[in-house]
Amino acid sequence: MTDTTDSQASLFPLGSGLSLPAPLPQSISPLAALLAELGLDMRAAANGGAAEIAAPPDAAPRGAVSSLYVALRCKSGRTASHGLRVALIVSGWAGELDLPDHEREPIEIAALLHDVGILGVPDEILGKPGNLDPEETRRMDQARRMSAAILRSASADSRVEEIVEHVPAWYDGSRPGYPLRGEAIPLGSRLIAIVEAFDAMITEQVYRPAMSLERAGIELFRSAGTQFDPALVRLFARFPASTLGCFRENVSRRGIPPLAPEIPNSYWALTDCSSCSGDRPEMRFFKDRLLDNMHDAVVFIDASLRILRWNHGAERLTGIAGASICDRLWAPGLLSMRSEKGDAIGADECPVNNAIVSGAHSLRRLSIAARNRDRVSVDSHTIPVADSAGTILGAVLVLHDASPEISLQERCQRLHAKATRDPLTQVANRAEFDRVFEQFVRTHRQQQVACSLIICDLDYFKSINDTFGHQAGDEVIKSLATLLASSCRPGDLVARYGGEEFVLLCADCGNGASARRADQIRGRLAQTPQPSLGGRSVTASFGVTEIQPGDTAETMLRRADRGLLIAKEKGRNTVVQLGAGARTAQSDQEPAAGRLVDGGTAVCLSTSFATPMPPAVVREKLAGFIADHQAQVVDRGEAHLTLVVANSSLPLRRRGDRCIPLVVALRMGADAEPRQRGGESRPAAETRIEVTVRPRSNRDRRRSVVEDAARQLAASLQSYLGAREIPCLRRAPIPWAE
Ligand code: GH3
Ligand code: MG
Ligand code: MG
Repeated sequence: MTDTTDSQASLFPLGSGLSLPAPLPQSISPLAALLAELGLDMRAAANGGAAEIAAPPDAAPRGAVSSLYVALRCKSGRTASHGLRVALIVSGWAGELDLPDHEREPIEIAALLHDVGILGVPDEILGKPGNLDPEETRRMDQARRMSAAILRSASADSRVEEIVEHVPAWYDGSRPGYPLRGEAIPLGSRLIAIVEAFDAMITEQVYRPAMSLERAGIELFRSAGTQFDPALVRLFARFPASTLGCFRENVSRRGIPPLAPEIPNSYWALTDCSSCSGDRPEMRFFKDRLLDNMHDAVVFIDASLRILRWNHGAERLTGIAGASICDRLWAPGLLSMRSEKGDAIGADECPVNNAIVSGAHSLRRLSIAARNRDRVSVDSHTIPVADSAGTILGAVLVLHDASPEISLQERCQRLHAKATRDPLTQVANRAEFDRVFEQFVRTHRQQQVACSLIICDLDYFKSINDTFGHQAGDEVIKSLATLLASSCRPGDLVARYGGEEFVLLCADCGNGASARRADQIRGRLAQTPQPSLGGRSVTASFGVTEIQPGDTAETMLRRADRGLLIAKEKGRNTVVQLGAGARTAQSDQEPAAGRLVDGGTAVCLSTSFATPMPPAVVREKLAGFIADHQAQVVDRGEAHLTLVVANSSLPLRRRGDRCIPLVVALRMGADAEPRQRGGESRPAAETRIEVTVRPRSNRDRRRSVVEDAARQLAASLQSYLGAREIPCLRRAPIPWAE
């Protein structure tokens, strides 16, 4: 075996290990002789065509084998090329394995002709782009067996037939109809099975695109031990990838000249209209008509970069007349071609040059200088053109005007920005905030993660406008928006709520953290000199609240707004945080469920809360609850309160659900339960609140919807009061203050 060539990357990074050298035998093998006889130069194919060798004078004609190969080429140039690539790689591999010539020869011939059975498969099946139906699959499987049968009747070496016969066998013996397994399968069959599968994977097929070398290698490993001999797969993986790629390139470009269509037709009178009619003189008119009526620009360029054809589409797109440009040399600068990033395309990156030099297709979005417009985006498709011997004659460049698609995309983006952004500050507008906020609250509630809302309003802004003018006021508004946006973290949203009032949604952030953030923003604003105000700074007031049980976007917003009002009342330039937050109250999972009361009365929920807050503070908290839920007070006394909550703030479960006005009756008193501490009784320190909720009217509604709404309202109330729910059995009668 030969040493590894370090510079050659093997198919897989398996260490320095083995590699196969140039897989051509030094002596002229039977395969070389056969190919020379067929007019195919194997060494030239393997070496990129640099060295030409003549057929050795003593090369005996291989009669049946060469005839079969010619027949295969007539039937399908693709399959013949595949056979040749497989034969060349297997030949090199066999040499690397030190197989003696008498073993190697049948393996090479078997590799070359392992697919000869496709002679019996209809062209519709061979060229079918989609999946084969069961009957077609059967025909293809049969073709495998037919390969062996054809070789047998061609009186080939019986070993060739045996190798071909077992190529489809699986190493683990699991393929039906192929009983041999493991080492019992001829070595040649195992080698060919790997190489032919690999070559098929890395070659574009009518039914799927080509896989990368790496991906194909992974597939081989995936089937090692089942379909393929695992030891051979490991050896194959050490083939230098460059050698494999070189075979593929060279054989496909130079090795097998596709047969001129008239040759197979003369053998079997096939009627391939698409290609054979190309020689009829009138076809030129059809082609010209097609070219000149295409909307896309089509340019033909020869191998020396001379422009041969410039259709009407190209004239329309570029504004350059065909007569003025044909026969000139192509250069990307003619159209001032630029990449999508706007970089000028040089000769080395030009898709046309690349197609001519490397035979590569390319599809790219570019821009060019265009008629009546500065630049236009185009989708460029460059197709290399080769003659029947595989020699590149030039390239076809097709340019498709992509501006309608681009302008549609841009228009959609502009419309979206217009609909969601505030034009002055470029932060989200009120509509976008409303949309996102609903979703934000819903998601955080479902995931039981804290989130907060900060609302802020510039202080004494009217007088700023009055003193410095509206324009200067606008600059201050922009400066606050920039400051808020700069303190956003992923998942947050800043929006202009209106005038000089902004909101900041803080994802995954509780009361404490959001209040600190608000205070930092407040401090930074107060210290930022405003150029439009001659370097003076401004201040703002902030209301902050965290989501709590029973909250909706609306209740949360009202609570934050109430915090802002209090901050204004406190003298401005301050942060006021309201609400207990999610962690201090009962979890959303266990809302203050209360007991649902059946029958008789319309009461649908009755529960009892205890809070450490004294009654005076409870009354204050109730005022917040009333304000945030926009409740209407229908009765109020020293120790009782009756409210109607229109319930529009509670989330409705379905689109069709309408608001359910609920009557909430509260009775409040000191907890009468004596507490024992160290044997000593002490006065009650808690305030008890009894709560009943019922729908305002007894209209026939879905009971579960009403109960749900009542539970949520009770959960919200519990949260406002920072209360715990008293289990039913432990409730002692309250000594009511009234
Ligand atoms: P407070 O401290 O209580 O907030 O006092 P204030 O003067 O800021 O009162 P308020 O928030 O009610 O005033 C809002 C003012 O903001 C009224 C309006 O003239 C001004 N305003 C609203 N939108 C804009 C705008 O887009 N540009 C400018 N320059 N001013 C605006
Ligand atoms: Mg203001
Ligand atoms: Mg305001």
